[in-house]
Amino acid sequence: MKIPVKNPIAELDGDEMTRVIWAFIKDKLILPHLDIELDYYDLGIKERDRTDDAVTVAAAKAIARVGVGVKCATITPDADRVGEYGLKKAWPSPNGTLRGILDGTVFRKPILVRNIKPAVRSWEKPIVIGRHAYGDLYKAVDFAVHGAGLAELVFTPAGTGSPTRLAIHEFSGPGVIMGMHNTDASILSFAKACFAYALSERIDIWFAAKDTISKTYHARFKDIFAAEAARREGALRAAGISYRYLLIDDAVAQVMKHPGGILWACTNYDGDVFSDMIASGFGSLGMMTSVLVSPDGAFEYEAAHGTVRRHYYEHLKGNPTSTNSVASIFAWSGAIRKRGELDATPEVVRFADELERAVIGIIEAGIVTKDLVALIEPRPSGYEDTELFIDKAAAELDRALARALERHPASSSL
Ligand code: NAP
Ligand code: MG
Repeated sequence: MKIPVKNPIAELDGDEMTRVIWAFIKDKLILPHLDIELDYYDLGIKERDRTDDAVTVAAAKAIARVGVGVKCATITPDADRVGEYGLKKAWPSPNGTLRGILDGTVFRKPILVRNIKPAVRSWEKPIVIGRHAYGDLYKAVDFAVHGAGLAELVFTPAGTGSPTRLAIHEFSGPGVIMGMHNTDASILSFAKACFAYALSERIDIWFAAKDTISKTYHARFKDIFAAEAARREGALRAAGISYRYLLIDDAVAQVMKHPGGILWACTNYDGDVFSDMIASGFGSLGMMTSVLVSPDGAFEYEAAHGTVRRHYYEHLKGNPTSTNSVASIFAWSGAIRKRGELDATPEVVRFADELERAVIGIIEAGIVTKDLVALIEPRPSGYEDTELFIDKAAAELDRALARALERHPASSSL
C-alpha cells in the first residue's frame, strides 16, 4: 500500500554519476512507497542543448507553481564540455538560471551521523550557511592607478539633481581602487528567504556583518534584517526561535564554541568563505545538502556536490564505483517532507523521516561508500559500491516501514 501524496513535486533530472544515482533512488527508495505525481524536467545537458535551455526555464516555473522541487546535479558547460557533448554553446549554469527566476537564496546544510566527528568538538547539530548571492565583491569594478591622483565616488541621479561626489583617496603613488554595490531589493529578498528558511526549520538565525566599520554599507544590511525580524516577530515567537545580529568576527569566534542548530546568514563574500569552512569541518561533500528558498516560499532541494565526473567515467568503462548518494537521497527526503508539511499530510512527513533514519542507520552501522571510510570511527573494514549502498538503504527502509505499520496498523500506510 503506497502513501498518497496530495500535490506534485517538480523533479529536475541531471547529469553523469548523479543521474545514475538519481534513477536508483527513485526506483528503489521513492516510487515503491509513494503514490506521487512528479512533474518531470530533464535538465541533462543534451536536453538543455536540444531545447536551447528552455527546459530549465520551464522547470523553474514549475517549482514556483507547485512550491517544491528536487534537483539532480547538472553540468555547467565550459569549452571542454561543449566539445565533449557536441553542444550548440556553453549554456549558462542551470542553478544560476533557477536562482535568477526564483530570486532565491541557497542554504547549505550538513548531514550528521554519530560516527563522523566534526572537526570542531562543540558542533552537535548542523550549522546552516545562507549566502547572499548578489553583488558586493562579485559585481565590483576595480582598477589599478599608476601614480598620484584623486580617486572619487560619483553618483549621478537619473533625471534631475546634481551628482554626489565623495573622495576615496588622494594617491601619492600607485595603488588599487574598487567600487561595489548592492540593492535594497536584493538584500530584502535575501533577508526574507533567510527568515522563511529559519521558520521552516525552526532554528535560530544569526546575521553577521561589520557595521561598526562599514557604517552605511553593512549598516544597511543590518537595518533591513532588523526590519524583517520585527515584521516576523509573531511568527518567530510562535516557532520558538530568535534573531540575532552579531559582528562578523564575534560570529566567527562564537561559532567555534557553539553546539550548532542555527542558520548563519552571511553576506556574499563571508558566505563564500565560511560555507567552505563549515563544509570541511563537518566532513564530506557527499554529506552536504542544499536548498534554494525563494522569498515567496518555494523550495528546491539538491545535493551540494556536482555530477561526480571522475566516477562517471569509471562507470562508463564498466568499472565499479562507490559514489556517495546520501546528499541526493536527502534532497528527495527534504522535498518530500516539505511537500507533506505544505499539504498537511503527516504520513508523508513521517515517510521522509523514516527514509533519512534508514540511511543514517546503515551508516552508523558501518555501511558506507568509499569517501566516508577515512572519516568514520571506528574505521569500517570495507565499503559498498554505489548501487549496493542504495540497496542496503532500501532494505533498511522496508524494515523501518514495516515496523511503523505494526505500530499504526489502523493507518493505511505509516
Ligand atoms: P564534484 O561533482 O563536486 O566532484 C568533485 C570530487 O569530489 C569528486 O571527483 C569526488 O572525489 C568528490 N565527490 C563529490 N561528490 C561526491 C560523492 N557524492 N561521492 C563521492 N565523492 C564525491 O565536482 P566535479 O566532478 O569537478 O564537477 C562535475 C560537474 O559538476 C561539473 O560539470 C560542474 O559544472 C558540475 N557541478 C554541478 C553542481 C550542481 O549542479 N549543483 C555543483 C557543482 C558542480 P574523488 O574523485 O576524489 O573520489
Ligand atoms: Mg567558496
